[in-house]
Amino acid sequence: MTARRLDGKELAKAMRAEVAAEVAKRTRPPGLAAVIVGDNPASHVYVRNKHKACSDAGLASWVHTLPADTTQPQLLELVAKLNADPAVHGILVQLPLPKQIDEDAVIRAIDPAKDVDCFHPMNLGLLAAGHPRYYPCTPHGVLQMLHRNGIETAGEEIVIVGRSNIVGKPLALMLAQKKTAKNPAAGDATVTIAHTRTQNLAEVCRRASILIAAAGSPRVITADMVKPGAAVVDVGTNSVDGKLMGDVHESVAEVAGWLSPVPGGVGPMTITMLLVNTLAAAKAIEG
Ligand code: NAP
Repeated sequence: MTARRLDGKELAKAMRAEVAAEVAKRTRPPGLAAVIVGDNPASHVYVRNKHKACSDAGLASWVHTLPADTTQPQLLELVAKLNADPAVHGILVQLPLPKQIDEDAVIRAIDPAKDVDCFHPMNLGLLAAGHPRYYPCTPHGVLQMLHRNGIETAGEEIVIVGRSNIVGKPLALMLAQKKTAKNPAAGDATVTIAHTRTQNLAEVCRRASILIAAAGSPRVITADMVKPGAAVVDVGTNSVDGKLMGDVHESVAEVAGWLSPVPGGVGPMTITMLLVNTLAAAKAIEG
């Protein structure tokens, strides 16, 4: 079997066109302020891509670049200014931050109404309670990728490898929750979360009709871990000898029914969902 491609790039293009059409109807463009501290090259690439995606879709976007020795009070002062700026509807502080800065304190300082990454504990609480203000971007991108390709999640056995606060944990919540009017992206699935303490990982993964790899370990998911015909989503982005590599071994394409590539899979979807959230924030703030 050769897996069908879950093409995030094409889907992202279509969804960004939907966002652009809505943005064009508004009197003032939704605005996203990105903050980057220090000179982590990967972070600069991510922020540049987000900035470009905003301008392509007609959103206003500002990048605030601060030096690596920025203090926590200095960063909090900028966040307070952005919270108060009526042209800014979404605020993104690119992680990781330098070690002198407490990431949790910075995330908590962002106005939850402008927290388009959905990292603020209040927004995570709303998500956990089943009536989200925003969906976190990467998990939402994965769900859109499945649903818009006609891959049903309701009633399915889904295994997620990874339990981080940014990907695995919120994705598991979204997939397991009941779909309602207030929670339209919920998956109604039977969900297992695997991690480094999981015993018999291959056996656990083979139960899944949908397997999601978010481990950050290059090629850790091999063909013997995949149920024939399963949909496999590769969230991993690992740099190996300067080359971008996912968590899924290429041999999986011979067993899986669907497979998302790296690059060109979840990455473009994550940025798209950031645009979706910034538009939603503008609507919530300004009507
Ligand atoms: P993370 O915080 O490092 O979490 C990794 C999780 O995977 C942990 O829960 C860890 O288990 C588990 N894990 C690691 N190796 C494992 C193994 N061999 N077997 C079983 N479980 C394993 O990473 P993250 O922030 O969630 O990101 C995961 C990957 O997705 C990274 O490659 C990241 O770059 C990528 N990512 C991509 C996008 C995108 O837009 N494409 C967005 C976000 C993240 P323990 O909890 O036991 O340590």
